[in-house]
Amino acid sequence: MENRILGLHHITAIAGDAQRNYDFYTKVLGLRMVKKTVNFDDPQTYHFYFGDGMGTPGSILTFFPWPRVRQGKNGTGMATGIGYSVPVGSLEFWKERFEKFNVPHGKISTKFGEDFLDFQDPDGLNLELIVPANKDERKPWETVDVKENVAIKGFHNVTLTLTNHKFTTEILTDVFGYELIGTENNLYRFRTSAVENAAVVDILEDPKAERGQNAGGTNHHVAFRVKNEETLMAFREKVIQKGLQITEKIDRDYFFSLYFREPGGVLFEIATDNPGFATDETVEELGSSLQLPDRYKDARAQIEKALPQLKQ
Ligand code: ZN
Repeated sequence: MENRILGLHHITAIAGDAQRNYDFYTKVLGLRMVKKTVNFDDPQTYHFYFGDGMGTPGSILTFFPWPRVRQGKNGTGMATGIGYSVPVGSLEFWKERFEKFNVPHGKISTKFGEDFLDFQDPDGLNLELIVPANKDERKPWETVDVKENVAIKGFHNVTLTLTNHKFTTEILTDVFGYELIGTENNLYRFRTSAVENAAVVDILEDPKAERGQNAGGTNHHVAFRVKNEETLMAFREKVIQKGLQITEKIDRDYFFSLYFREPGGVLFEIATDNPGFATDETVEELGSSLQLPDRYKDARAQIEKALPQLKQ
């Protein structure tokens, strides 16, 4: 178990306005901001992390909000859908809530025997709330408006759109240990038995679709979860054996990471559980103030001045 891929770790997407992004995820969806930091490669841009109360891997959606970003386009070679797990009986609540806040959404529908409601965030990012067929006992973050009986528990799945599923399937099954558990039309569902939740990857095969354009309202990368750095480095070898390029180990302060582009074009990351988000602030304080990596600490005043103001 310890040396396997443990489902999803986080997903990272691109947003426009920081305040609008913050308000949507914390107020409308009722997630917790578990970390407010900067893009480590571009400290004039925020990096927001939204998740459950602890910032548990498998619950974390992160954003780079770029105020003047151009609109991206979903297409092949990218993650085009993020599925959150919600409690049985909660979809009507969410439908009403989306109507109240003018959130674009579809009808409650079913795929792979699971009810879901699709919607878009203010930047046009595609998301779904899904009632998973399997039990989800993760404890969600609660807000005044979004109580435990309806609250988002974390990820259920991610959907990748690809011209051809074959080579990506090989990475998911041979390298990551997922199994194909079902198909519906041109949708292929994979699951890992290593974990109970955030264990599903769907591939939407669309040979005629255009290549996606990564900018506002699209996903940047999908991170898979491993226990520790030893397992991380073992996976580095496995990816290299498949003939793919992969980065060196990168210290992201809250986890250690490797990045590689899978053959279908999606940027994959593998990220560790350690050390987690409660390293530079306590669990109670998570997300309450701007955290900077060591190399930017001396430039705090300048960085804070350059970042857009955020009302929490
Ligand atoms: Zn990442």
